[in-house]
Amino acid sequence: MKYFIGLVSLLLLISCEVNKVNNLKKLPIVYSPEYNIGFYGIQYLHPFDTGKYGKIVKHLNKTLGVKQQQFHRPYLISDNELLKVHTKSYLNSLQGSETVAKVAEMGILSKLPIGVINNKLLKPIKLATAGTLIAGNLALENGWAINLSGGYHHAKANKGEGFCFFADINLLIETLREESKIKKALIVDLDAHQGNGHESIHGKDKDIAIFDMYNYQIYPGERHLIPDIDYNIELKAHTKDKEYLQLLKENLPKAIAEQQPDIIIYVAGTDIYEKDPLGALSITKKGIIERDAFVFEQALNNKIPIVMTLSGGYHKDSGSIIGESIENLLKNVIELKID
Ligand SMILES: [Zn+2]
Repeated sequence: MKYFIGLVSLLLLISCEVNKVNNLKKLPIVYSPEYNIGFYGIQYLHPFDTGKYGKIVKHLNKTLGVKQQQFHRPYLISDNELLKVHTKSYLNSLQGSETVAKVAEMGILSKLPIGVINNKLLKPIKLATAGTLIAGNLALENGWAINLSGGYHHAKANKGEGFCFFADINLLIETLREESKIKKALIVDLDAHQGNGHESIHGKDKDIAIFDMYNYQIYPGERHLIPDIDYNIELKAHTKDKEYLQLLKENLPKAIAEQQPDIIIYVAGTDIYEKDPLGALSITKKGIIERDAFVFEQALNNKIPIVMTLSGGYHKDSGSIIGESIENLLKNVIELKID
């Protein structure tokens, strides 16, 4: 009998703990452990730190006690959905290792069977693309949301490039418009690179405004798209915090006031970081944290839903910088209660 009572109390305790975990408050943050790309060490051939997403999650767990169960899980985006912004011939071309290798800028991928590529590379990216759609809807419900990946701002309708396969930003806009959830959107692209993908897809669309602040001296340099950028802020290589933040603070409030969008899609690339091997800007960790906080404050103060995507960031510190920045957003800007 004694053992029986002991066993029952143990089971009750376990079920209590399970319930506690299941009842944890969901946060408007989207993440899958499968966002982290890794196969046979091949990821080390690309400057992309493909494990950075997991680092963010660890940081938020360590500092704020956020649990993985509190995140929303993405699904695998279907070709049918992708057809809202991409051409059929482009999607078909991704059945060949060579196109994938070109988009990913990793020639060696062309030697791998497409099955391996689908599973290990395209699957995480398809999950992250759906992640932006889920986060967009969560932002409309909560006022803010974060996809711990996405922000593929170089992907065009008929072509992927710069490690961007699917135009998640444009797909979110098209999906929300189709469902009559928004009319106007403002893309705030603060990745170090020009957002030539979303500019080529929505640049001429009167209901979509683009704010792009980027290093004009690096890839992609598509100057012909500049007339389609509503707020075009070109930075010289090695621009530092003071000038960068001043330009942002002078221009972003004006853009928001003029556009009055129904949603802000924030492309929060961390390749503006001073040690980033690709961005060639000189922004410190403190500067990045201040930038993200400023953008969120602007959205929240104006009661405009904001969805953040992570985009580029190729230094090994990128994951921990994003972790610290999101920690600051949750604690000091959104003032969120975690449980
Ligand atoms: Zn970039």
